[in-house]
Amino acid sequence: MTEDCVFCRIARGVSSADVVYEDDAVMAFKDLYPKAPIHFLIIPRRHIESIAQLSAGDTELMGRCVQVARTLGEQTGFAERGYRLSCNCGPEGGQVVNHLHFHFLAGRRG
Ligand code: AMP
Ligand code: ZN
Repeated sequence: MTEDCVFCRIARGVSSADVVYEDDAVMAFKDLYPKAPIHFLIIPRRHIESIAQLSAGDTELMGRCVQVARTLGEQTGFAERGYRLSCNCGPEGGQVVNHLHFHFLAGRRG
């Protein structure tokens, strides 16, 4: 937990979010400023800054994040039509919130 990390606060339930999935290690909630009709953020509960800070021991956790994307695809009815899963890393990768997260975007082409 990092005190000034907005996603850590959401993961701890200190800040509110529109949660669409959670388990012991992973959480998903609606993006506050959606860029597509469906825009969720999938995060590990534990604070990991970005892909660049991943260690070998995080492999299963990252797999679980991707499995949550699959679940959300099924729950939203977009499993067949498809969706985009993206992860920005670092300043030149467009990462603004420094707590690793995957964007789940559906309902818009391109
Ligand atoms: P990124 O540019 O990959 O770091 O994306 C950060 C995303 O977090 C943006 O799409 C923001 O709209 C979103 N965001 C920032 N603060 C919140 C929040 N409190 N609740 C939900 N989404 C947020
Ligand atoms: Zn954090």
